[in-house]
Parts: sequence; C-alpha cells; structure tokens
Amino acid sequence: MLIGGGHSHVGVLRHFGMHPLPGVRLSVICRDTHTPYSGMVPGYIAGHYSYDEVHIDLSKLARFAGARLFRDEALGLDRHAGKVLCRNRPPVPYDYLSINIGSTPQISNVPGAMEHAVPVKPINGFNQRWQLLLERVRKHAGATRIAVVGGGAGGVELTLAMQYRLRQELRVAGRNPDELSFHLLTSDAVILPTHNAMVRRAFERVLAARGVVLHCNAEVNQVWAARLHTTGGENVDADEIVWVTRAGGAPWLRETGLALDADGFILVTDTLQTVTDPKVFAAGDIASMVNHPREKAGVFAVRQGTPLAENLRRAVEGRALKPYRPQGKWLALISTGNRYAVASRGALGFHGAWVWRWKDWIDRRFMLRFSRFPAMETGPAAGPSSVKLDPEEAAQAISAIAMRCGGCGAKVGATVLSRALGALHPVDRDDVLIGLHAPDDAAVVRVPPGKAMVHTVDFFRAFIDDPYIFGKVAANHALGDIYAMGAEAQSATAIVTVPPGLEAKVEDLLFQMMSGAIEVLNDANCALVGGHTGEGRELALGFAVNGLVDEDLASVLRKGGMRPGEVLILTKPIGTGTLFAAHALLKARGRWIDAALVSMCQSNRLGAQCLREHGATACTDLTGFGLLGHLVEMTRPSGVDAELNLAALPLLDGAEETSAAGILSSLQPANVRLRRALRNQQDAVSHPRYALLFDPQTAGGLLASIPQERVEACLSALRALGYAQATAIGRVLPQGEALEPIVLTLG
Ligand SMILES: Cc1cc2nc3c(=O)[nH]c(=O)nc-3n(C[C@H](O)[C@H](O)[C@H](O)COP(=O)(O)OP(=O)(O)OC[C@H]3O[C@@H](n4cnc5c(N)ncnc54)[C@H](O)[C@@H]3O)c2cc1C
Repeated sequence: MLIGGGHSHVGVLRHFGMHPLPGVRLSVICRDTHTPYSGMVPGYIAGHYSYDEVHIDLSKLARFAGARLFRDEALGLDRHAGKVLCRNRPPVPYDYLSINIGSTPQISNVPGAMEHAVPVKPINGFNQRWQLLLERVRKHAGATRIAVVGGGAGGVELTLAMQYRLRQELRVAGRNPDELSFHLLTSDAVILPTHNAMVRRAFERVLAARGVVLHCNAEVNQVWAARLHTTGGENVDADEIVWVTRAGGAPWLRETGLALDADGFILVTDTLQTVTDPKVFAAGDIASMVNHPREKAGVFAVRQGTPLAENLRRAVEGRALKPYRPQGKWLALISTGNRYAVASRGALGFHGAWVWRWKDWIDRRFMLRFSRFPAMETGPAAGPSSVKLDPEEAAQAISAIAMRCGGCGAKVGATVLSRALGALHPVDRDDVLIGLHAPDDAAVVRVPPGKAMVHTVDFFRAFIDDPYIFGKVAANHALGDIYAMGAEAQSATAIVTVPPGLEAKVEDLLFQMMSGAIEVLNDANCALVGGHTGEGRELALGFAVNGLVDEDLASVLRKGGMRPGEVLILTKPIGTGTLFAAHALLKARGRWIDAALVSMCQSNRLGAQCLREHGATACTDLTGFGLLGHLVEMTRPSGVDAELNLAALPLLDGAEETSAAGILSSLQPANVRLRRALRNQQDAVSHPRYALLFDPQTAGGLLASIPQERVEACLSALRALGYAQATAIGRVLPQGEALEPIVLTLG
C-alpha cells in the first residue's frame, strides 16, 4: 500500500509495472490524480510548459503497474490492525506500507499567514492557488506588489518565474509590466544558504538586474491582508504574499506512533524502513534518514524510488533488505524564469541559456518515463507465488488456487462473507420484516397500502480498480431505473462475483465494494436485504432493486407519453463508454476518469423529482443502449418523432477526444445497428459527435420530455441541484411519414 503519489512512489509504480511480482498487488492512496514534477513547476509558472507537461498522470501509471489507485487522503494509521485511515472511505488494510506524501507548510506558526498568504506547499495544490493569484493580478488595477517569503532555491526560483510570467501577462493585456514590484524576504543572512558563494552571487546579480528587492535577516512574524512585519521591525506592503518557507511533516503522522524528527518528518533507516516499524517505509521529503540527513529536494525523492521498490520487493519475498546511501553532492539546476538557469554542485557553479536547455532536456526525458511505458515483463500468470506467506496464509493460498471445484454455485465461504458484511450497516426500514438484521433463506418486505412495487435488476463487471467507488457506481446505476420510473427505492438484494484469492483479501474486497454500495443505498433509504456471492474470473456486482409507486400509477414516469412540441432534457453528460475503453488502453487522462466517476456517482433521485415537478411526460435513464437507443425506446411507444441537436449534447471531458481517436466501448457495435433510426444519418456520420450517440452509459443521466414553457425553469432548477451540465438537447416532433423517427441537427 503506497500513500502519496510523490516522486519516489511514481518510480516504485513504474518499477513494478516493468517487473511485476506474482502474488503482490500494489495500491496507491493519493489525493491527486495528476502529481506535479517539482523540477518543472517553476517552468510551468513561467509559462514555458503546459499543465500536462509537468504532471505525471497517476491514473495511467497505476494502470500500467497493475496497481489500484484510490483517490483519497490518508488521515491516519491503525498500525495494530494494519490499516490506513482515509478521509472518504473505510479503512484500507496493508501488509506493507510506504509513505511518500511530501512536506506540509509550517505556515500556521506565523499569525495571519494562514489567512493572507498563498502557500506553495503542498505543491500539488499550488496550481489552483496560482491560477487564482494570476486572475487577481490580471484584475488588479494599477501597481501590484508581490512579496515572496523564503530565500531557498524554491523561493528564489519561484520569484523569478512569477515575475517573468506576470510581466508577460500584463504586456499581453496592454498594460505596463513595470506596474509589478517584487520583494523577496528571508530570515537567513543570505539567499540560497545551502549553495556555494558563486551560485549565490549569480542569483544576487539576477535579482538586482530584475528589480527584485531583497530583504535578508528578515524573519516574518506577522502577516496582515496587505502587509508583512519582520522581527527586525520592518514593514513590507504587499498585495500578494507567497509562502515558500521550510515545511514540516503532516500533523496526522504524530498520532501514528512512528518516530519523527523535530520537524515532524518520519525517521527512517538506511533501508528506508521507519525506525519504529519494519513494515512501514517512507521516502522523499517526508522521510528523514537517520544516518544520512539531506536537504529536502525532489532529486532525493526521485533517487529513492529505485531502492524503495527494491526493498519493498525484498521485504515481501522475505529476503534481506539492501541499505541505501544518498549522494553527498547533488546537482541543482535552478532557473531564472527567462529560459536561463544556474547549475550548482558542491563548490561548482555555472550558468547560461544552455544550462536551461540542458535542464529542459533532462526534465522532459524524466517525464517521458511516466507517459511512454515500456513493454512489460510477463511473469507467470498464475501458479505459485514468490511472496513469502506464513503457514496459515499459505494453506489458504493453496486452497484458494487449487481447491476450486465450482460446486455449491462456487459460493464464497460463509465466514468470509459474514465477516465482510457484518461490519456494514444497511439502513433499517419498518417495512422490511425479515432482512439482513435477522438473515433467513429469503427477505420478507411489506408493500405499504396504496403502493405498487417496481422491480429492476442490473449487473456488470468492474471497470475500475477501486472496489469502493465501483460499489458506489454499481448501486447508483441500479437505482437509476427506479428513479426514471418516478418511484422511490425500498429494498435491494445484491449479486456479487469475486475472483478467488487469499481469504483476507477477498474479505476486504467484498467489504470495500459493499461499503461503497451501502452508502449509496442508505442515502436512497433503500434497505439491502440479502444477496448472493459467488466466485468468478472477474469482480462484478449488481442489484435487484425494488421500489414503490402510488398504486394508481399517477406519478409513474414511463417511456411513452412524449408530446410534440415538448423539449428533450438530458440531466448528465454522456461519454462513459468511450472514456473507460480509453482508460483500459492507457489513453484517457486521469482527470477525465475522475470527472466521469464523479458523474457516475451522482444520484438521479433529485433529478427525477425535479423533472416530475416540471411536468415531465416521459423519462428514462441512460444506460447500455446509448442516447440514441434510449431515445428510440421513448419515441416508439409515444408515437412521435424527435429532433436531436448534436452540438448541444453535454459531454464528459475527454469523450470527444477518445471517440475521435476511434476508441469505443465493446458494446458500441451492437448499439450502432440502431443508426437505421436516423433520418439523415449520411449527413451526420462524419460529425465529431456522431459516435457518441451510440456510446453505452454506466449510471448515466435522465432523458425526459418537458413542456416547452417549463424548460427554462426546469434547467435552472436542475443546475441548482448540482446537475451542472443539464441541457436541452432536442425537441419532440409529430410523427411523420418517414420510417426513421430521429432527425439530427448538426449545429
Ligand atoms: C517552487 C519549488 C520548486 C522546486 N524545484 C525543485 C527542483 O527543481 N529540484 C528539486 O529537486 N526539488 C525542487 N523542489 C523541492 C521539491 O518540490 C520537493 O522536494 C519534492 O516535491 C518532494 O517530493 P516528494 O515525492 O517527497 O513529495 P511530493 O512531490 O510533495 O508528493 C507528495 C504526494 O503525496 C500526496 N499526498 C500528500 N499527502 C497525502 C495524504 N495524506 N494522502 C494521500 N496523498 C497525499 C500528494 O498529493 C502528492 O501526490 C522545489 C520546491 C518548490 C516549492
């Protein structure tokens, strides 16, 4: 289990991707899907690189490594139970753990700094803060004073990069770049105290030539909205204050029982194991090597990636770990913002535009390692694991692999199941007479007087490696049919397939997946009342859901019922089919997948209520047949035709790119057969959005027909409810002579 996607862990992931170890599964818990490469961050700030050029896409890298990526934040450890405590999901178990979470600003020590300064650390969050700062400076009329606190390499480099970029911005806006003034404050007597005098002088000259006012021996002890105060009694006025001072370890580490140094960094031995717990490793800024203290720099974090991977591998194989000694002297290439850089190594220093070009070459080459993946070594697919297990685990492993008979419906063992499910708490409902609280052969549920029951079932294979999020999506997808009918969910039974494996791993997989599902079902006030779990090649989950509607069916929303003149509204963007096909091929950006998963986890419950309140005459939820398939399912029973505006379709980020690249779901060809429902198919076939008409959706939005006069109010209400991309995508037409019911407008 890796916490953090820092510079060392990206190396570990790549290493395991290239040399997989049978029997070992890596998982990464990381706050961010795109992790910045610190060496290129100043170049990004200066405007020389794009966002994607300086960020490693953990989603792709984890997939290459066969690792599970859990987008979450670790908040603590239960080392006794061997679990990581996370912000947004149940505790995640580990056998071995490695921590590479960088450093945290010690900004709270200075009164006012939290409120009024922009911290550079955590560096992954800095991009958002930088974008806001850029916007403020663009809008700020007249002179803008910027103060940077921190005179180390980070502070100096950032000052010069920001100055270069902001001057360009003002020039482009037709303003005078001299409206900007910069102050650099450091508590030390000199800037760059860990570098040699030659390097310091070079930077002093650059700063002076660029008009940056340097304040040495200026320890800031108070910050106000537009002013800094130093211990020397100096006041510096500043419209923007950027904080690049020495950072410390994350506060939550104090509760883990791991030994920390005075700054809160984890003490590690030469093998990168924590001095406290040999099963817990740490690397990068967060680690403090007891025998080899070094400055906090990305270069050390990068270098530790290989020995960390090697020692994690040795640890799980039960072999002796290898000591690692970081280099004493290291090369720092510090840029000056204007495509010029200074090299510093021990007592050496040199500078020039060629140093920048050299740095640029090194950095780009480094980043290529994480975007172009080499062919993988293929280890034995099954068969004996090389991982060292204790005898009890070994017995279980053997039974897991060799004793599969497929009998008893290949059910998962009762103890595993009851342990995994015992920790879950489905919502209690009075109308559930016999459910999981008193398990029996089957559940017994009362249908309240005046109500009729709505039944639906859905089931599909896991398309992501995060079982908790997969559980959420599967439950949300199954509930979609209930909401599309205008019903309320009442109870659900689950059907689960899990691949065979060590009992503890199967149990946790079930627990994680069902935790996600139960959260969604509980939010819907839908009681999980039973289920069936069997073994199979792939993880899969589905639900039979029962809902309730009024017996007179007055509130039921059917597919038929659309009337000419009405407007078609779609509540969520489409594109999940192509995006997850691309994800499987390492062709989708991590942030596209993140956004698609957020959309897939968004319930249709409020959307359905809203559509009903605005007079919807027909409704369906978008799933496997794609937009066109579902629309045709509505036009047919309604006896109408429909016009669909391709340009208006709300799309998930990246869907147009991946479908244009020809990356489509395996269900797409079956859906494309419905093209015969299109009246002007020949005109549309080359339209960039054409393929998306057939894109199968998982947990898609609702498609509804709304009277024209209520559309505007309905869309505003939907957006206020969080369906930010709810859009009118077409209109209902009277049935014409043509056989094809759908006509496309191409926009
Ligand atoms: C402006 C600037 C320029 C710099 N330039 C250079 C340079 O040119 N060369 C150099 O060597 N060094 C440079 N540094 C220093 C460098 O940024 C750090 O030393 C380096 O980032 C440390 O790497 P790391 O792998 O330890 O952690 P990080 O790069 O900080 O990565 C930590 C990762 O962990 C994740 N994370 C954090 N907390 C949690 C949590 N609780 N749960 C889950 N995930 C979590 C984060 O999202 C992130 O992905 C620079 C620093 C600054 C401020």
